Amino acid sequence: MNGLHAHLVARINADGPLSIADYMGDCLLHPDWGYYATRDPLGVAGDFTTAPEISQMFGELVGLALAQAWMDQGAPAPFALAELGPGRGTLMADMLRATRAVPGFHDAMRLHLVEASPTLRAAQRRALADYDATWCDSVANLPDLPLFLAANEFFDALPIRQFIRDGDGWRERRIGLDADGALAFGLTDATPQPVLAHRLHDTRDGDMVETCAPATAIAATIGTRIAAQGGAALIVDYGAWRSLGDTFQALRDHASANPLEAPGTADLTAHVDFESLAAAARPAAHTPLTQQGVFLERLGITARAQALAARLAGEKLDAHVAAHRRLTHPDEMGTLFKVMALHRESTPPPPGFN
Ligand code: SAH
Repeated sequence: MNGLHAHLVARINADGPLSIADYMGDCLLHPDWGYYATRDPLGVAGDFTTAPEISQMFGELVGLALAQAWMDQGAPAPFALAELGPGRGTLMADMLRATRAVPGFHDAMRLHLVEASPTLRAAQRRALADYDATWCDSVANLPDLPLFLAANEFFDALPIRQFIRDGDGWRERRIGLDADGALAFGLTDATPQPVLAHRLHDTRDGDMVETCAPATAIAATIGTRIAAQGGAALIVDYGAWRSLGDTFQALRDHASANPLEAPGTADLTAHVDFESLAAAARPAAHTPLTQQGVFLERLGITARAQALAARLAGEKLDAHVAAHRRLTHPDEMGTLFKVMALHRESTPPPPGFN
């Protein structure tokens, strides 16, 4: 039993079964044993690979889309350029390189990174050594400025709760101990859940729905700021407009794993429910939820891929072609991943949505 496992068993013995959210929170961010707190999980040697780690084209296009939104809003200065959960800092480094030629953009930006993991903060500091950046624990600490923000595979890492419909109530899925003392899923008795009132219309007995209170709280903060100060947020993640079913999953060594096994040593995620983010972000407006492949095509990824390919040959060219396909093809990340932007009602959305 590892240190985190012992800690979780002690919590369950003291307080009873944990919600999935309590379990996820400890597994991902416990200061001593948490998955993100103690390691860099990204890349070939890690457990999963993200779009910015696949190709520089992803960050370049996201950066230019935000710069276009900034220009469309009259190039406000100063403004906050922010990223949530920047991983190794690759996305932001690519965004910054691509926007260097946008007149006034770098002079006006105040770079802010919201990151919980000390290990990944150190990686970001190295990747962004040429820039003046501020790290924050929470979106609440972002400065009161027009806010241009990117978040890739951030919201899927936030702790969810799971509920199974039972009549007009809901049984919560929790994590306790079985007769042998092993971590095991169980269900509470059914209770009413006011936050799920709207889901009584589109679910039946036995259906599972997920909620993510931290995600809606963060979306609300971002939405309030964008509505008041201007700006735009690009949110990229796997998920759907409305969640249905069990999407809680663990990834270790690029393969799916049992989320209750060896806690703290696998990435735990859930699909993002974009409708709840859009609702929480009001009065900011939102774009239609758009497939990542379609979004990147509209931003010109094919032309960019061709320009880069002209300078490559052999294995490097093969890898570049494969990376383009991986980001955009429906069999790869193209349709599983979705993009939604938040923007001020009175200003145009960033490009890529129609
Ligand atoms: N955006 C990066 C990394 C995705 S992994 C990429 O696309 O490669 C998720 C990131 O979110 C990590 O940097 C992780 O440390 C961070 N993170 C997870 N939960 C967080 C929280 N509650 N607050 C701040 N950062 C968090």
